[in-house]
Amino acid sequence: MSRIRILPEQVANQIAAGEVVERPVGAVKELLENSLDAGATKVDIEYRNGGKSYIRVTDNGCGMLPDEVMLSLERHATSKIQNAKDLDKVISFGFRGEALPSIASISKFTMRSRPHDRTEGTELLISSGKIIHQKTCGMPPGTQIEVANLFFSLPARKKFLKTENTEAAHISRLCKLYAIAHPEVAFTVYSNQRKVFQSPACSDLQERISEVFGSEVSRDLISLTVHKYDGCRISGRVSPPGIGRPTRQDIVTVVNGRPVESRTLLFALTEAYHTLIPKGKYPAAFIFVEIAPDQIDVNIHPQKREIRFRSEGQVRRLLIESILNMAEMMHPAKKQAEPLIDVENHRPSPIISSNLISTNSETSSGINKEIVEKSTSPANKTGSVAAALTMPQSHHVKSWRLLARLKQNLALFETSSGLIILHLNAARERIRFEQILDCGDSGSRPSQQLLLPIPVQLDNLTTELLKQHQGILKNEGFSIEEFGREFYRIEAIPPWLEPGAAENFLRHFLDSAREGGIHLRKPDLAHKEIAKLAAREVSQNEDPLPDDQLAELPRQLLECKQPLNCPQGKVTFFELTTNELVKKFGRNISS
Ligand code: ADP
Ligand code: MG
Repeated sequence: MSRIRILPEQVANQIAAGEVVERPVGAVKELLENSLDAGATKVDIEYRNGGKSYIRVTDNGCGMLPDEVMLSLERHATSKIQNAKDLDKVISFGFRGEALPSIASISKFTMRSRPHDRTEGTELLISSGKIIHQKTCGMPPGTQIEVANLFFSLPARKKFLKTENTEAAHISRLCKLYAIAHPEVAFTVYSNQRKVFQSPACSDLQERISEVFGSEVSRDLISLTVHKYDGCRISGRVSPPGIGRPTRQDIVTVVNGRPVESRTLLFALTEAYHTLIPKGKYPAAFIFVEIAPDQIDVNIHPQKREIRFRSEGQVRRLLIESILNMAEMMHPAKKQAEPLIDVENHRPSPIISSNLISTNSETSSGINKEIVEKSTSPANKTGSVAAALTMPQSHHVKSWRLLARLKQNLALFETSSGLIILHLNAARERIRFEQILDCGDSGSRPSQQLLLPIPVQLDNLTTELLKQHQGILKNEGFSIEEFGREFYRIEAIPPWLEPGAAENFLRHFLDSAREGGIHLRKPDLAHKEIAKLAAREVSQNEDPLPDDQLAELPRQLLECKQPLNCPQGKVTFFELTTNELVKKFGRNISS
């Protein structure tokens, strides 16, 4: 071993570079964050070959004076904190003062910077950490940094980089995340001279999401009403119930302006959407958390992507609550009726509709979910219009008037605001699901004794399963007695089950238990799973809904807590509003 000594500055920087910029996307992140820290309102990013050969970030931020340009390349040079105490309240992205010297030590690095109150800028060229020149230059206010041949002095590191496409994909994802986090900043992003996306400063998040993620994602999003608790505030845009996305790519979580990975937020989303969207799908969710900086720990990951909340439970509950609240607000009985568009005059016209009926019977929840029959008498008509203008929208209950059954499983309804296509089995499953869910409390659920017990023969393995799950079944109102090896008798069943369907249901239950679908230790979850299972039998085993029960179905559905989707998370109905029809035809559709 040789003697102990201090590493030369350049070597120290190269070692630090390994941590700060593992790969090109790391360099882009540091440069982009510096631009945002500098108060830029416009950031242009360009990269080639996945950032390996070239990265350029240009901003219109505060810029640097000539001596600051030099100083910014010193290790631990930062304008963002002054002492260790400041660490608890950093709100800027950077504060270590390590990024620029690190990147400059492993690339050909050109920095140009000009403060707004100066007429010219400073250009500094560095190659592998050695200063090549510093001179004045003409440029617009702001800062531009070019990084060419990243890692060229670290051939070993270079070998570990993934393909150009992979690196490029990481960079474009990163830029998208920061663009979402900062709608007020204009972005242009180019990869190999091809536009990845471009978005001017946006006044609202929805607009930015549409520019960056496309209108297919942004179209359906619902705005979360702001939830606050003890210095933590959650807002954002999310998928409505029933609409799931195939991947997690449309989930973006932003904490104090910083796009982050957070298990807490991701788990909360998964949990909140558990029954709202189909299994295996993900919501689109753009979640913004604002919280006191001392309530989070951003440093557990060197790239500062993964964060921890000091009070995880609180943040989790807050997010779940705001999603469930959104789902509840989507209830058709609460949804605000939109003003009708008058195409010819290009302005909203007052709602004049005979079947927009308001009721005064305020229930404890403030909503009356009853469907009131359409009234045609002129007196009533003016009455309801007047009421429509004075009553809060949530008190209006739309009537669904049956127009036709389309296929065995679809029906078409007319409402005051358009047309509704209802999936009959999806609706029946939802209704059945909630009926079972609400059927008594654990420990006191009703049970109905059978006059003729139903004999069931089970094989060896299934017998074991039955024994394990007897407690759960009993809790649901079943009584299943053994009489002889592998022979059982169903003696009592819950009231929601028909005796004729009991054996079938029991077998399906045991199938599901075999696949691990029933929570043995959590009775509430088991109850939900049983309700789900029983609801599915509607589609699998029951006869199609008779015509004479069709008109009644919407009322039952709207009485549900969550009528928009079936227990499997698929939509129960969708609406073609008059406004959408007007837009599609490009002309008025009444008269
Ligand atoms: P940190 O961001 O942790 O302070 P950096 O090495 O990234 O460290 O940057 C060092 C300093 O250089 C910053 O504190 C800031 O003062 C200055 N700086 C870097 N990039 C810019 C920029 N785009 N505009 C203005 N100043 C910048
Ligand atoms: Mg920085």
